[in-house]
This record gives sequence, structure tokens and C-alpha cells, in this order.
Amino acid sequence: RKPIVAVVGRPNVGKSTLFNALAGEMISIVKDSPGITRDRIYADVTWLDRAFTLIDTGGIEPDSSDIILSQMREQAQIAIDTADVILFMVDVKQGLVDSDSKVADMLRRSHKPVVLVVNKVDSFDKFMADVYEFYNLGIGDPNPISAANRMGIGDLLDEVIRHF
Ligand code: GDP
Ligand code: MG
Repeated sequence: RKPIVAVVGRPNVGKSTLFNALAGEMISIVKDSPGITRDRIYADVTWLDRAFTLIDTGGIEPDSSDIILSQMREQAQIAIDTADVILFMVDVKQGLVDSDSKVADMLRRSHKPVVLVVNKVDSFDKFMADVYEFYNLGIGDPNPISAANRMGIGDLLDEVIRHF
């Protein structure tokens, strides 16, 4: 079977924006399956002849007892358990928050390869200095992207397929 890549991280960091960028407009790297609805969370992606299945998740709020958020956390855990490679997304505009560290702990327990994605780096000149604090997660090198502006995505995909 194709490798599975899951996108996880707190709500609002931009997971679905990246998913849509990879599943939607980059036509040459996308092979849509028939009968799949608009709000699908699975997409077939091909990058440099390497095909994989990308899974979007609702997000993880590690400490919340809210029923919806705890269900989202369970769904994300299922995606983590299913994945061959995990894209762990954080938000450079919010900076490193406690929840990010807790998600990082969850991911370490999975013993899966994790690619750390720092999103919302809308200008590499202006915001690159803020990317380095994410080294403190102890989960590897941060990969800066702007999902909204489609910057850094090629380098990120190069990094993802290195783990297959
Ligand atoms: P999710 O909850 O992690 O799936 O996050 P969404 O993809 O729904 O995005 C949450 C918000 O962040 C939306 O308002 C997006 O437009 C915004 N967003 C996503 N990517 C970027 C980015 O690269 N730069 C900026 N400035 N905003 C972004
Ligand atoms: Mg989303």
C-alpha cells in the first residue's frame, strides 16, 4: 500500500490549508479518487514519482475536556497510529505554546517519523528568526512554510518522501 502521511497539530495552525493546497490546486501532483466529496480528509498526492495518501485531522487540544475536542484528539490519535510519517504543524505567529509541547510528547510516544512544519511564515525574511524557537520541541528541524502563500511546500515534500 501507499505510505500514509497525517497532518496533526492544534486547531487553527493551518493544517487544512496545507491539505487543500496539496489536494486541490497543485493539479500535477494530485490524483483524485472518484466519488470523494469536497470535505474529504484523504487525498492522493504524488511528488517526484512518490505517491502517498495525505490525511487531514481536526486538530489536537491536549488538555481540553470538551467533548468535541476530546473526540478530535481521539481521531488524531487514530490518524497518528495509521500514519507512516507525521506532519506536525505549529504556527509561527502564535509561537511555541504549551499545547505544542504536549502534542510533541504524544508524537514521541508513537515512535513514528515526525516532520516539524512551521506554518504562517508568510515572509521568510521577516519571520525566519521566529522559526528557531521550535527547535525547543526537541522533535527535529523546523520546516518553514506558508500554506496560504504556497511557500516552502516543495522543500517540505522533499523532506516527507525521504522517510518512505
Ligand atoms: P486548521 O484548523 O489547522 O485546519 O487550520 P486552517 O487551515 O483552517 O487555518 C486556520 C486559519 O489560519 C485560517 O484563517 C487560515 O486562513 C489561516 N492560515 C492558514 N495558513 C496560513 C498561512 O500560511 N499564513 C497565514 N497568515 N494564515 C494562514
Ligand atoms: Mg482543519
